[in-house]
This record gives sequence, C-alpha cells and structure tokens, in this order.
Amino acid sequence: MIDLKKYEVWFVTGSQHLYGEQILKKVEMHSKEIANALNLSKEIPVTVTFKPILTTPESIKKICLEANNTENCIGLVTWMHTFSPAKMWIAGLKSLQKPFVHLHTQYNRDIPYAEIDMDYMNLNQSAHGGREFGFICSRMGIERKVIVGHWKDEKVYKKLSVWMRAASAWADAQGGKIARFGDNMREVAVTEGDKVEAQLRFGYSVNGYNVGELAEYVNGITEAQVNELVEEYEATYTLAKDAIRGGSNHNAVKNAAQIELGMRTFLENGNFKGFTTTFENLQGLKQLPGISVQRLMNDGYGFGAEGDWKTSALLRAMKVMDSGLKGGTSFMEDYTYHLDPSGMKVLGAHMLEVCPSIAIAKPKLEVHPLGIGGKADPARLVFDVDSGEGLNASMVDMGNRFRLIVNEVEVIKPEQDFPKLPVARVMWVPKPNLEIGAAAWIYAGGAHHTVFSKALNSEYLEDFAAIAGIEFLTIDANTNIREFKNELRWNSVYYQGK
Ligand code: MN
Repeated sequence: MIDLKKYEVWFVTGSQHLYGEQILKKVEMHSKEIANALNLSKEIPVTVTFKPILTTPESIKKICLEANNTENCIGLVTWMHTFSPAKMWIAGLKSLQKPFVHLHTQYNRDIPYAEIDMDYMNLNQSAHGGREFGFICSRMGIERKVIVGHWKDEKVYKKLSVWMRAASAWADAQGGKIARFGDNMREVAVTEGDKVEAQLRFGYSVNGYNVGELAEYVNGITEAQVNELVEEYEATYTLAKDAIRGGSNHNAVKNAAQIELGMRTFLENGNFKGFTTTFENLQGLKQLPGISVQRLMNDGYGFGAEGDWKTSALLRAMKVMDSGLKGGTSFMEDYTYHLDPSGMKVLGAHMLEVCPSIAIAKPKLEVHPLGIGGKADPARLVFDVDSGEGLNASMVDMGNRFRLIVNEVEVIKPEQDFPKLPVARVMWVPKPNLEIGAAAWIYAGGAHHTVFSKALNSEYLEDFAAIAGIEFLTIDANTNIREFKNELRWNSVYYQGK
C-alpha cells in the first residue's frame, strides 16, 4: 500500500557564473556523482533526481516553481558546492512550497596538505557557501533541516533518509482522507480538535460517516469471501481452541472477518488512508472491530479509537515513515501502571486495537467478552512485543496550535506471563524514568492515546513537526522537569504570535 520509491527528491546545487565554465563543469560532475550515490544507496528510501546547477535568480525561481507543480516531488536536497550569493535565492525560496534539506557537505573529504593551492580553494567552497545560504534561510525564517558531514559518511545518509521519510509522510498527508465511523467518545476532551485547522495545517481532511453505511458494506460481503479470509486467518495466526472451525466461538471469527472485508471495501472505495471507530457508535455491527482494525493498521492504514482522528492521521504518517523498516508501529494507550518504587513501568494496550507489526511472534486469534459497548464478543489478535528502544508520540490540539509530544521509552520483557489478559500488550519504562517521563507528559498535555513505534526514533517526528511548522516536544533521557516546564512556558509565548 505504501511505496516510497514513487516519490522524488530533487538534488539541487547552488553556484554562480563568477568561476567560469571549467569550474562549473566540475561542479556539475561532482553534483551528479553525489545524486547518483544517494540514488544507489539502500539507505535512501526515495528516488533522487539530479537537477542542473543553479547560477541565476531566474533559474532558482524556475526550479522552485517546478518543484511546487510536480506532484511526486516531495522536496529538495540543496547543496552549495561553491559560493552562491544568496540574494539570488530569495525569489525562489519565497515561492517554494515543498520542504527542503540543506546538505552541508564538501565534495573532497580531506584537505590535501601537500597539494592544496588556490584552484583547490576556489572549487571546495561549501564551508562558506553553505553559510551564505544558511543566512538567507534564517533571515527569511524558513524551517529546514541542516545536515553536516561528508556525503559518503553513513551518518549523513541516515539523517537524509530520516528527513526523506518525514517528507514522504508530509506528501502523503496532502489531500489524504480520514474516515470517522461514528463521532467522538462522549465527553472525551483530548480526542477532539479543530478539523478545519488540521486540514489547513497538515493537508488531510477528516469526515464522518454513518456506521449504518459501513454496516451495509459489511452485509454485502458473501459467505465465500468470509470463508476465504478465515482461511487466511488460519494460515497466519494461531487460533484458540474455541475459535477454530466447529468451536463455540468460530462464528464470532466469521463475523469479524465479514466486518474486516466490509471496512476494507469501504476504505478502498473511498480512497481513505486512515479511519476511526468508537464503541458508542456500532449500530448494525455485531461486534467492535478488533482483528479487522489490527490487520488494516498492519497494511498501513491510520487508526484511532473512540473517534481519535488526530492519532489516526499521526499513525498513518508514521506508517509512511517506517515503510520497509523493522520494528513496527501501532496505535497504543498507556493502560495500567506497575508502581513498585524499585522499577516503575507502564503496561500499554488497548481494548483490542494493537497493530501486529510490533508482535514478537505469531499472534494468537482469540474471542473474549469486551465488557463495554454491549455487543457480541469480538475477535482479536493477542501477542507480546520484543524488548528494545521505542517511543510514544501524541498529537494534541492546544487551541492555537498543534503540539507533537514524543516520549522515548525502553521496551522491556514482562517478568511474568499474563495468562488471563486477552489483548495484545507491551511493557515499557518511559525515559528518563516513569516519575519524570509521565509528569512531563502530563504537564505537556499529552494524550492517553499514542502512536507507539519500535521502527522510528525522535528524529523522524522532529523532522515531520518542522516540515508541518508545529510545536515539538521530546521527553528523553535528559529531560529535567524544571527545564521542561520552562520550555512549555517559553513555547506558549512563542506561539502567541503565530
Ligand atoms: Mn482508548
């Protein structure tokens, strides 16, 4: 469903005519070589396209306008091989609507002490050329990512890749559609927000659909289609004894498969990228969608429970960013605490809807009562999650801005099994610890719903927030409550004028 190679990043090199044709030819050769190396790298997820060297204000403006009008161009990599007087960039940057990264590199890595002369100095001018370009970007107040290092350095590729994945998520959001089946869970605050502002800011639209309309799709699914999907379940998961054919709960599995097929058809027909459900609006559905939501997330759809469209859109963005990476990304909720002072931690889960992309092993398919919503017992995938680095991300609407909060976490193996827990679950210790991590999260107004990821680190979200021009807060190993509270105060002043 998600293909990043269809996206192009244009490799754009700044220079000027002062150097003469010979130097400009070399600049072009070097630039082509770097663009080509990026394109061949396994680390780089998108297509990198070399563009002719820019030496005039007219050519700069032209390439920026072309980038705006080329749908699969998701942004630019800009590089100042030589000194490119930056007043030349004003008109172009003023019109540019695509994000860009400033690659501050130099063609030659090492200074050739014995041979260096003025010809070498005139060709290798990134050190000051990049500063001239940086000044005009800062003077114009333009958000961009600056990456410093030699273009063959693995660290540079990694940073470029992170930005390219964030820019891909941004491109994916433009014109993206989120469907809400039912409304917000009644009286819940944090899942609400300004959908018009979200569309202006992020580019995706959010619209509501009657659950009855979805139920019609579900009822239109044939027995043969259901049986085929149940066979796929049998091949993919370990079914509980009562869930297999002839078991007392097999019918619930079939009903769940029917719901999945109906939802999938609805979402495909409407070209949606994400959706929400809520257990308070299930008229016409036999059970709360469990396994269907889990499997749709696994295929790249955004999802938010209880009408949470902001989390649905964020999950979709993070599914684009983690495309092809290992670790998985899921809808999540901080569910229950373990508050033993010698090791405080969080048990994360949801009623049902956790994405199997984060599963440590083959999920189990089980049917259990829900105890909420008054519907039939829903089928769900149950699994654990491997230990390692992870994060939780939350998008909240502060009234005059969107705020993206990330808490880095250490995912841990539970000390014991959960023989009676009928949902997928994951345990983690927030960084720097639960005491500070949870306090900072609550001061920041972070939601109970999150997007949990083992595939992404904070840098992806930081780049995404910068492209979107929204507030970004990280809670990590270095977080200190007093400083964090000051950051919140200072940010609130900064955003008064925005
Ligand atoms: Mn919830």
